[in-house]
Amino acid sequence: MIKVRQLVKRFGQTTVLDGIDLDIQQGEIIVVIGPSGTGKSTLLRCLNFLEQPDAGTLEIGDLEVDVTRATRQQILAVRRRTAFVFQNYALFANKTALENIAERLVVVDRWPEEKAQVLARKILERVGLADRADAFPVSLSGGQQQRVGIGRAMAAQADVILFDEPTSALDPEWVGEVLSVMKTLAEERQTMLVVTHEMGFARDVADRVIFMDEGRIVEQGPPSQLFESPRDPRTRSFLRKVL
Ligand code: ADP
Ligand code: MG
Repeated sequence: MIKVRQLVKRFGQTTVLDGIDLDIQQGEIIVVIGPSGTGKSTLLRCLNFLEQPDAGTLEIGDLEVDVTRATRQQILAVRRRTAFVFQNYALFANKTALENIAERLVVVDRWPEEKAQVLARKILERVGLADRADAFPVSLSGGQQQRVGIGRAMAAQADVILFDEPTSALDPEWVGEVLSVMKTLAEERQTMLVVTHEMGFARDVADRVIFMDEGRIVEQGPPSQLFESPRDPRTRSFLRKVL
């Protein structure tokens, strides 16, 4: 469903993504791991045009984009097909939980307010926050805020949800509830690409784990293979530190 070819991103003289090739099947759950500063966030951000890549092609369904020649329209189309969950939630502080989720439906997808609210309420229920619809982010726990963040991504009805370390900013007590919402989505075969340090989640939920180092995909495979018999010394050394 998604095909990335020779994706390159540089910041100044530094090549942060050094020719990434990646295929994602519909319904696939992929976890991306790797040392910090290795380009994991940049990869996700480039897939969403939050960063402008320097080279490569991107195919999502029937949409094919040469990233260096992407038109405004193509960029918007890519954004519509890829939803993003941020480490720091990135909610609108002046909007309620419900409004945070309904916002995009109204503003981007031009749904009537009422229809958007109906779907937003359903989503709030699915992320376990039906009773906090009218709460503002400041009065929600970190775990609740991130569940709103995930709800917002669900509302986008995108082809793929990109999660960038969704539990890294959370106090440990809130990590479980966020992972559990993500697990539910995975069981429903929502296509997702998840950057995380939660190796338990990777092991239990991922169809495929990708190990990145220095802007490249070093190795990938089913979690059992990657965790138990990594082939590359860099993967082994990384796993020794985190497992
Ligand atoms: P990871 O998510 O794997 O920790 P990142 O994708 O955030 O890594 O960053 C990869 C490299 O790119 C790092 O060296 C980082 O300092 C650099 N980088 C990321 N974003 C920017 C930016 N906006 N400007 C300059 N350098 C950046
Ligand atoms: Mg990162």
